[in-house]
Amino acid sequence: MTEMPDSKPPNRATTAAKIAANPTGYKVCEGCDSIVGSGAAICPNCHSYRFESSPDKVVEQANILGTREQTSVTANDLS
Ligand SMILES: [Zn+2]
Repeated sequence: MTEMPDSKPPNRATTAAKIAANPTGYKVCEGCDSIVGSGAAICPNCHSYRFESSPDKVVEQANILGTREQTSVTANDLS
């Protein structure tokens, strides 16, 4: 038997991968670098209304969020 139940992948990495696969559905907050859904009017974290929506930037930020734990991923309302 394996000693580690591996049924729970890191949620952050999973979310980051999902974002990176569909960068046009998201944008990056210029205030706090959170990733939010492209339909969001303001950032749920810092209430900024300025976003960087280029797919390159979104993918880059998703990769950062997927590997580090500094900033929260706020794309949790993507269903
Ligand atoms: Zn923000």
